[in-house]
Amino acid sequence: MEYLPVFLQLRAARAVIVGGGRIAARKADLLIRAGARLTVVAPRLHEDLCSRAAAGELTHLPERFVPAHLDGATIAVAATGLRDVNIAVSDAARERGVPINVVDDASLSSFIFPAIIDRSPVIVAVGSAGQAPVLARWVRERIEAILPAGLGALARFMGERRLKVQRALGPAARRAFWERIVRGNTAAHLLAADAPAAQRAFEAELLVSQLTTSVATGGSALGEVYLIGAGPGDPDLLTLRALQLLQQADVVLHDRLVPPAVLERARREARRIFVGKGHGDGAERTAQEEIHELMIRFARQGLKVARLKGGDPFVFGRGGEEVEALARHGIPHLVVPGITAALGAAAGAGIPLTQRGLAQSVTFVTGHPSEDDSLDWRTLACAQQTVVFYMGVGKLASIVARLRAAGAVDTLPAALIERATLPEQRVVRGTLAEIADLGARAGLSPPALLIVGEVVALATDAAAEPVSPETAADLIQPI
Ligand code: SAH
Repeated sequence: MEYLPVFLQLRAARAVIVGGGRIAARKADLLIRAGARLTVVAPRLHEDLCSRAAAGELTHLPERFVPAHLDGATIAVAATGLRDVNIAVSDAARERGVPINVVDDASLSSFIFPAIIDRSPVIVAVGSAGQAPVLARWVRERIEAILPAGLGALARFMGERRLKVQRALGPAARRAFWERIVRGNTAAHLLAADAPAAQRAFEAELLVSQLTTSVATGGSALGEVYLIGAGPGDPDLLTLRALQLLQQADVVLHDRLVPPAVLERARREARRIFVGKGHGDGAERTAQEEIHELMIRFARQGLKVARLKGGDPFVFGRGGEEVEALARHGIPHLVVPGITAALGAAAGAGIPLTQRGLAQSVTFVTGHPSEDDSLDWRTLACAQQTVVFYMGVGKLASIVARLRAAGAVDTLPAALIERATLPEQRVVRGTLAEIADLGARAGLSPPALLIVGEVVALATDAAAEPVSPETAADLIQPI
């Protein structure tokens, strides 16, 4: 190990930066955030530093550097861009035993600044011993993406309750308790910014821990259901929260729209149960009530249940019914939104759903047989809007006929998008008059969506059709 990573308490400590440019301003920002009393020694200051000096956040000494500037300093930074000044600062710091960082010069430095992920009070620092700062930043980005934004809030929540837990539980039970808080419902609620629900989950967990004599580590004593939107199919379109909860779930209940690549993102040991419904004829392979029962039974066993649904749980997903059933039975639950198929299909086919002058609104409609009699076809046929039909493939001809009968023009652009965002995605475009035929000829099958509206004409062909090696060669500009 070439460097020892430590976290330095700088509150009210004297810090000195020599140099007043843009890089000095970045270091100043860090040192001020850490609570240091900062002095900047530089003949001239970058505008950020000027305004911070004016605001009293730092002291500016408009002087040339002399070693005495470092007297009483806890930490020093040289960012002058002038090698002999940087050497002088480095020498003076070492003489005084003051840790010194010379920007971009590890040989003159006794410490280096890591790349940081700040979820205070949780801070992650990444370093490469000055050898590959770009690589360290890349690592930082990856960590940044997996750490929830609410991590700091969770850490503070736990910090504020440490004493209470210390009084309530013995040392061994305490550890198991905190493990369950971090992995369980409390954390899930807090990361979803629902503090009251987190508090309730915390209190319940504490009560259970006090009552339980045998101290089990691992999973929470309380079950919960996560209603998770899995997005349109491409696993990279899962939200970060969906991923985090999938990693925690003991059981995953999924339907037909959730592809294997998404299921693979669940915890390896999680039990996966298919609860899909049939397509087209309305036959439901697993009745909705059975799904409710399964969720409730598993949650009552203390398991964390991920109810994984294609797209968004609250868009034609019967998520509302599931939430209602869970609430009725007092099962704690959480809804995680997902990218609904219309949005995935629009992006996949290069069709903007709204566009100034062409479509001021967009409507998501179900083409499901049980629903369409109550639809207002005249409104759906109006100009200046985009209409997206879900579940409409089997009923294309009747949807088109109804739109035309309600006044939609034959030349209105329309597109069918099958298996949007998946590698097998297919897009068929045409006019309203011909789209049903084109779809049938292409042999499109569910899941697919119909998008109707002027915006369909804006579809970029590159997005609609797979790029062949020949066109790819055309696209590449000779250098
Ligand atoms: N809750 C889901 C919709 C479920 S209804 C959501 O928000 O997306 C099922 C219908 O969604 C399918 O019949 C189809 O019309 C549409 N659908 C879902 N995934 C799709 C995909 N990858 N490509 C095209 N249509 C899709």
